[in-house]
Amino acid sequence: MSSIRKLHEQLINKESSAVEIAQDALKRIEVLEPKLRSFLTITKEQALAQAAAVDQKIAAGEEIGLLAGIPIGIKDNLCTKGITTTCASRILENFIPPYESTVTQKLAQAGAVMVGKTNLDEFAMGSSTENSAYQVTANPWDISRVPGGSSGGSAAAVAADECVVSLGSDTGGSIRQPASFCGVVGMKPTYGLVSRYGLVAYASSLDQIGPFGRTVEDTAILLQAIAGHDPQDSTSLKVAIPNYADSLKPDFQTRRKLRIGVITETFGEGLDAEVEEAVTKAINQLQELGAEIHPISCPSFRYGLPTYYIIAPSEASANLARYDGVKYGLRSEDASNLISMYKTTRSQGFGAEVKRRIMIGTYALSAGYYDAYYLKAQKVRTLIKQDFEKAFEKVDVLVCPTAPTTAFTAGEKTTDPLSMYLNDLMTIPVNLAGLPGISLPCGFDSKGLPIGLQIIGKVLGEEQLFQVAHAYEQSTSWHLQKPKVA
Ligand code: GLN
Repeated sequence: MSSIRKLHEQLINKESSAVEIAQDALKRIEVLEPKLRSFLTITKEQALAQAAAVDQKIAAGEEIGLLAGIPIGIKDNLCTKGITTTCASRILENFIPPYESTVTQKLAQAGAVMVGKTNLDEFAMGSSTENSAYQVTANPWDISRVPGGSSGGSAAAVAADECVVSLGSDTGGSIRQPASFCGVVGMKPTYGLVSRYGLVAYASSLDQIGPFGRTVEDTAILLQAIAGHDPQDSTSLKVAIPNYADSLKPDFQTRRKLRIGVITETFGEGLDAEVEEAVTKAINQLQELGAEIHPISCPSFRYGLPTYYIIAPSEASANLARYDGVKYGLRSEDASNLISMYKTTRSQGFGAEVKRRIMIGTYALSAGYYDAYYLKAQKVRTLIKQDFEKAFEKVDVLVCPTAPTTAFTAGEKTTDPLSMYLNDLMTIPVNLAGLPGISLPCGFDSKGLPIGLQIIGKVLGEEQLFQVAHAYEQSTSWHLQKPKVA
């Protein structure tokens, strides 16, 4: 499928209709899903109805926005009124939300055509989409490999052209890491830029919704549509939203030279040699485009992972307390009284990784351990934030690899949670500091698997982040390559 702008032109020039575009996407989904399993629910009827409404507007001579008639996939942890929202968990198997998330509401108003709800690691906990209670999504570049996670379905669907763009959520890397594994662009906005109303909470102080696309421009257009203040989310920022897509230029266009910092701690041990080579080449390319390159040390960066694995499970253990068999979804039948109903519902409804997180979090928050673990983690979180603040006194944006390796094979890390957690080494500190980060393709390894470059911006630095990413992208051809499955 083409870019948003191309499809938009086709629509307004009446070269194709929104229904035809939706049918194309649905046809590809039908053909590819047996191999890929990106979607948990396919919303064919709604999609065709939404597309028909866009066609009516065009026929009536009304103006349509850029996203009108554009097929989009939505991660299945975003509430969609009347459409099952499972979070890839058994506990929400039958949950049909009575309300709509702010982001999907905004997209519907913009005329975007939702083709389905995408697969994820259960409650967004994981880095491979293998923790879904329903299915394992395949990586379109090599179907024996994982698409990354937790937004693996959203990343794979875009990579394989099952939709043009999609939404994911990122708590510790769940947009950027699968974008890297699937060779697409994925962006985590500044904490508070996008409303979390209707996003099923994992770790509320870290969760952000963000876009996937095949190009930086497509992700910029999608972010534009979902960003902005929402009174329904008390952490939502009251700020003016720049026009991201219109400010994209083929070069950096700053008054003085753009200063790019390379986070030195992200190179060295544990980094795959081919990833290192591709990212180093990308940095040289940025220099050729006119940027100044500075090595920058963020000494607290390496504490990101242990800090995250206290804070995220702690918040998760509190957030997931609501699934008790009373209010939502599953209720176990094998219980004789209220307490045993709670217990059996939660034992049967949650998968192993979710239970592990609930146990870690409950332990870290318990009386006697709170100061030693949770409070300490919050202090280290502040140090990580300060490292970034210091770095941004010297440079405009930071770069590093998105993930230490390319996509691994399904089953390779499922028995070793720690090696799975290591995937997010480079993305997690960005969530802890609340900063925006983008991952975009910067090469392929010798197996033909995509490699991602991560660019990190200042608080609310999305506009500049998109500019830098776009200028790099336009000077390369990585984003034009497509997986063979497609
Ligand atoms: N892989 C990380 C985790 O399992 C991050 C997940 C996410 O960003 N949702 O917590």
